[in-house]
Amino acid sequence: MEKSNGLRVILFPLPLQGCINPMFQLAKILLSRGFSITVIHTRFNAPKASSHPLFSFLEIQDGLSEAETRTHDVTLLLTRLNRSCESPFRDCLTKLLQSETEEEKQRISCLIDDSGWIFTQPLAQSLNLPRLVLNTYKVSFFVGHFVLPKLRRERYLLLQAEEFPPLRKKDLLRILGEETEVLDSYSDMILKTTKASSGLVFVSSCEELDEDSLSQARQEFQVPIFAIGPSHSYFPGSSSSLFRPDETCIQWLDKQEDNSVIYVSFGSVVTISESELLEIAWGLRNSGQPFLWVIRVGMVNGTKWVEAIPEELMERLTEKGKIVKWAPQQEVLKHRATGGFLTHNGWNSTVESVCEGVPMICLPSVWDQLLNARFVSDVWMVGLHLEGKIERNEIERVVRRLLLEHEGELVRERMKRLAEKVGRSVKQNGLAYRSLQHLVDYLSSF
Ligand code: UDP
Repeated sequence: MEKSNGLRVILFPLPLQGCINPMFQLAKILLSRGFSITVIHTRFNAPKASSHPLFSFLEIQDGLSEAETRTHDVTLLLTRLNRSCESPFRDCLTKLLQSETEEEKQRISCLIDDSGWIFTQPLAQSLNLPRLVLNTYKVSFFVGHFVLPKLRRERYLLLQAEEFPPLRKKDLLRILGEETEVLDSYSDMILKTTKASSGLVFVSSCEELDEDSLSQARQEFQVPIFAIGPSHSYFPGSSSSLFRPDETCIQWLDKQEDNSVIYVSFGSVVTISESELLEIAWGLRNSGQPFLWVIRVGMVNGTKWVEAIPEELMERLTEKGKIVKWAPQQEVLKHRATGGFLTHNGWNSTVESVCEGVPMICLPSVWDQLLNARFVSDVWMVGLHLEGKIERNEIERVVRRLLLEHEGELVRERMKRLAEKVGRSVKQNGLAYRSLQHLVDYLSSF
């Protein structure tokens, strides 16, 4: 770790697992480059301060009731949070800036927060504090999703579906079906506040994964853009999990053969129905392959955990498989026994899988996941797409295709090459590594 450079960076993550992980990875990187770190966070999904003894933490009241935090509607949750956090965050930040001038020990360089916080840009501006926007999406999604409101209004544009590769028309219809006016105006605000910011940091993207869209983003946003690559590569294994990972996964994997296990996880937000749970269960069981399956508490609509699986089926599942509530995902993907990842294609999961060279089976559910999945299956060709078919025979078949057949070997080979390419990017003098260096220089210049 470099010695302190006398500068402090304030971080304000959105309280979602997929946003907390990249923000803490960035925090660790900046700490290692000499910056001090203060994390302002909500009470809801508060990060574990004890896991990060070198950071300072300040909690603000988010004003959400227990019931409000349980909603599965992420847009609703985020718009509520934006409303209720504005005033406490303003008080907290103002106090911090005042104490800085009193002590004059460390200068606050800037604020870095998620693109989903839409009140922070005008606030930072009024306090004369540079604000950088952290982005946890694939660059092409971030750039492209601002055309969605227009597409929704002018559906005839959809007829020219070839304008939106690699999304297929059916993906686009699904995405547009989810859109609401609330989301449209929220997206408009994200665009506006990002354009007014002092810079944009993509933590899980790099030129190798996002070449075309990065140059498009640079044109569109006209602010400095840093694509520092899969940030967990700089500090592998470090966790900022909101749930306790079940470490017995690793001992179980130790007993399996190389590349034999299918790892199944749908991230921290996606939910499924009871019947989908059963179809996946039968499909995995009938594939005959060992599997490690993350079923979060509350993931199956209307039930607590796995009660919907009949006892007899559960016995058969546990002959070859292991079900856990939360896994140490990066370690699982790194393990020699893991041969494939049945995933919802959240961007973090997708990139983590790429970094470890694990081919995917794509089962995207909503939003950016549909685009990420198309990159995996159609552009990089490092995974097979289930085309939304949550059906036991389809799942059995796709698992066998990936793990046992020649087609799977070819996919694995391509994935290996992509992993090597991305791996080189985060090594000294790689493109992502250099972008990180530019970010550090930029933050030091404030
Ligand atoms: N994750 C984990 N254990 C699990 C499932 C997920 O550690 O059992 C982590 C995973 O490594 C990733 C994050 O949770 O960093 C999920 O982010 P992603 O963008 O893939 O999906 P989201 O949860 O935002 O839908």
